[in-house]
Amino acid sequence: MLEELYQKVVQRDPSQPEFHQAVQEVLESLEVVLDKHPEYRSAKIPERIVEPERVIMFRVPWVDDSGEIHVNRGFRIEMNSAIGPYKGGLRFHPSVNLGILKFLAFEQVFKNALTTIPMGGGKGGSDFDPKGKSDLEVMRFCQSFMSELFRHIGPNTDVPAGDIGVGGREIGFLFGQYKKLRNEWSGVLTGKGREYGGSLIRPEATGYGAVYFGEEMLKTRGDSYQGKVCLVSGSGNVAQYSTEKINELGGKVVTLSDSSGYIYDEDGIDADKLAYVMDLKNVKRGRIKEYVEKYPNAVYTAIDPDLDYNPLWDHKADCAFPSATQNEINAKDAQNLINNGVFLVSEGANMPTVPDGVNIFLDHKILYGPGKAANAGGVSTSGLEMAQNSIFSSWSREEVDEKLHNIMINIHSQAYEAAKFYGDPGNYVLGANAAGFRKVADAMMAQGVV
Ligand code: NDP
Repeated sequence: MLEELYQKVVQRDPSQPEFHQAVQEVLESLEVVLDKHPEYRSAKIPERIVEPERVIMFRVPWVDDSGEIHVNRGFRIEMNSAIGPYKGGLRFHPSVNLGILKFLAFEQVFKNALTTIPMGGGKGGSDFDPKGKSDLEVMRFCQSFMSELFRHIGPNTDVPAGDIGVGGREIGFLFGQYKKLRNEWSGVLTGKGREYGGSLIRPEATGYGAVYFGEEMLKTRGDSYQGKVCLVSGSGNVAQYSTEKINELGGKVVTLSDSSGYIYDEDGIDADKLAYVMDLKNVKRGRIKEYVEKYPNAVYTAIDPDLDYNPLWDHKADCAFPSATQNEINAKDAQNLINNGVFLVSEGANMPTVPDGVNIFLDHKILYGPGKAANAGGVSTSGLEMAQNSIFSSWSREEVDEKLHNIMINIHSQAYEAAKFYGDPGNYVLGANAAGFRKVADAMMAQGVV
C-alpha cells in the first residue's frame, strides 16, 4: 500500500526528485508502525501527510543598484499544522524550487514533532542569490518578498526563520517590512537580532544541537569527543557553530567548505582560526579558499566537476558533520567515510546523504543521526524564541543552552527508544521517523478529516 502511495506521489509531481526521496525514506520506516497501528491506515494518515495543507507561490520583483529590474519567484509551503503553527526556515539560493522546498517542509513536520514544542511544519524561500549583492539590493529583495508573504504568516499561523542564504541581515529586513505592513510588533519570525526579540543561542543552536546529538550517540557506546578527528562540510551558520562546540568538547575539526571547494587543516581549526572564518564568511562575505592564505599549512582543493565523489569525505577521521546542503554525500562518499574509519555521522544539514549512502551507514551499524533528529536544535531554539516573545521576556545564555541541550537529549532518547520498540535498535532513521510520525498522526486523528 505504501509503495502504491509512493508511486502516486511521483506521478502527481514527477519533477520533484528531492521530495520523492524524502517521502520514500519516511514511508519505508512507516511499514512497521502501520502494522502496529492499523487505525492510521484506515484514516488515510499517510495519504494526507504527504500532501501540503497549502502552497503559496508568488512573483518577487526588485530593482538592483544600477536600476535594472529583476524577477524572482517566492514560495511558502504550509505542510502540516496538526500540532502547532507552521514553522520552518526560508532559503534564498538559486537552486530553490518547489520540489526542494516541499522536501524540506515534509522533513520539518517530523523534526518539529520530535522537539516536543508545539510547532507544525513549513518551509519557504526564493531562487534569489544573495551572493555578490549589495546590502541595499538584499534589503529591496527582502522587502518585496515580504510584501506578499506578510498576508500568509503570523505569530499563531506561520513563523518563518532562516536557512541557507537567510541569516541575521535578511531576517532583520524581512521583519522590518512585516512590522511596517502590519503596524504590529510580533514574534512572526525567529532568528531575530538580540535588540528586537531574538533569543540568545539561536545562531549557535543548530550546530551545537548536532554536536549534542552526536554526544548522546557516543554515550550509548561509552565514548566521547575527546581526541576525535572530525570532518565538517560547509562554512556557514551550522558548520561554524558545530566546529565551535566540537572544539569545546575536545574534538579536532580538520575540514570546512563552501560551494567552490574545501580546506583541510591537519592541525585543526581551533578557536582563533574559527574566529577568522566567522569574520571571513559573516562580515567580509569571502570564500573559504582565502583560509589558506592566512594559514598556509592548510590545503585548499577546488571542486572538480569531473569527480564522482567529494574528496572532503576521503580523509582519515572518526566523526563527520555534513553541514552544507542536501545530497552532499553520495554512496561513494559514504563508503569512503567508512573506509577511513568514520563511525559517527551527525547531520547538521537537511538530507545531506543520498538513500544508498544511508543504507551503507545502516549496514555498517555506525552511529548515524539523520538530519531530522540531529539538526532539530535550530528549530527547537526558534520555539524557545517564540516562547520568550510571547511572555515579553528573555532568558540568559546559560538558560537557553541548557534547555537546548535537554531537548537534544530528549530527541535522542525518543529516536533511540522508538528504534528499539519497532525492532531495529540503533537505527535512528526508523526511530526518528516513527516517533515524529506518531505524534503528528495522533493529533491528526483527534482533529478529524480537515
Ligand atoms: P548558510 O547559508 O549559513 O551556509 C551554507 C553553507 O553550505 C555555505 O558554506 C555554502 O557555501 C554551502 N553550500 C550551500 N549550498 C551548497 C551547494 N549546493 N553545494 C556546496 N555547498 C553549498 O546555511 P546554514 O548553515 O544555515 O544551512 C546549512 C544546512 O543546514 C542546510 O541544509 C540547512 O537546511 C540546514 N539547517 C539549517 C538550520 C539553521 O538553523 N540555519 C536548521 C536546520 C538545518 P556558499 O557560501 O558557497 O554558498
